[in-house]
Amino acid sequence: MGITPILTMTELKPVTDATPIKTPMLPDAQTVTAVEHFTDRLFSFRTTRPQSLRFRSGEFVMIGLVGDNGKPLLRAYSIASPSWDDELEFYSIKVQDGPLTSKLQHIQPGDQIILRPKPVGTLVHDALLPGKRIWFFATGTGFAPFASLLRDPETYEQYDEVIITHTCRDVAELEYGRRLVESLPDDPLIGELVGDKLKYYPTTTREQSPKMGRITTLLKDGTVFKDLGIDGINPDTDRAMVCGSMGLNTDLKEILESFGLREGANSDPAEYVVEKAFVG
Ligand SMILES: Cc1cc2nc3c(=O)[nH]c(=O)nc-3n(C[C@H](O)[C@H](O)[C@H](O)COP(=O)(O)OP(=O)(O)OC[C@H]3O[C@@H](n4cnc5c(N)ncnc54)[C@H](O)[C@@H]3O)c2cc1C
Repeated sequence: MGITPILTMTELKPVTDATPIKTPMLPDAQTVTAVEHFTDRLFSFRTTRPQSLRFRSGEFVMIGLVGDNGKPLLRAYSIASPSWDDELEFYSIKVQDGPLTSKLQHIQPGDQIILRPKPVGTLVHDALLPGKRIWFFATGTGFAPFASLLRDPETYEQYDEVIITHTCRDVAELEYGRRLVESLPDDPLIGELVGDKLKYYPTTTREQSPKMGRITTLLKDGTVFKDLGIDGINPDTDRAMVCGSMGLNTDLKEILESFGLREGANSDPAEYVVEKAFVG
């Protein structure tokens, strides 16, 4: 990835100095339109969308701010809004000593962020063969690509049943996803398509909640299937997308493969796909 010349970047100010400039001065600058904080570790924000940006729901882009050295400080972020939305939405962690998010967590409407308009990723419908039921397995901010896919009509047009599992440490960390899922049946645009196809399976690993435990444990001991009234995962009909930590992804791959699912890619669609929610 090339570094934008510093001369150009001087037009973007670090967020701490941000003035309320509403009109982006650079092709890669987008204006923040809304910010919502969920916990001391999680927030979401919306930005303007470059007119030229086309993406497939589930993909990620590089976004960031101007660092203290005047150079762009960019990180991969899943686009949490669906491909039809006029704006872009992101769902973010706050790492207190993280180079980007220690600053990004302070953005306000009117501030600018950098957005490189080159979407990529494997959590896309094109990377899966047709099926009847799709599983979205998320932990933490790994919910972000599914926030996009859950709002995409294609998800409900292609599948009879859509299951989203979301595992976090505490109940408050489920809030962004819970609210989104609960809003879908009444959504004026896709509510009718969603109908009764969507099943939501939130779990916590630390704080007491109605369903405790890691999703991998609950899959292995059959609890998920019993709770949802499903026989199991069948490679002829079930498709899956996974987005979590490295450990979660590795464990889920093993579980999905034990059911006979094979990993797919854009160039070679199969029964499941995986993406890291973060590195480290
Ligand atoms: C394909 C891809 C998509 C991503 N999408 C998102 C997204 O939609 N939302 C988002 O918040 N992050 C996402 N990330 C992570 C993101 O790129 C940054 O790592 C994150 O914004 C923190 O940046 P930082 O510079 O503050 O700290 P970094 O130096 O990047 O990270 C410091 C440490 O914080 C931890 N960490 C980083 N990100 C997370 C996270 N999301 N959840 C839990 N722990 C984390 C890790 O241990 C990491 O080593 C994604 C990463 C990848 C590879």
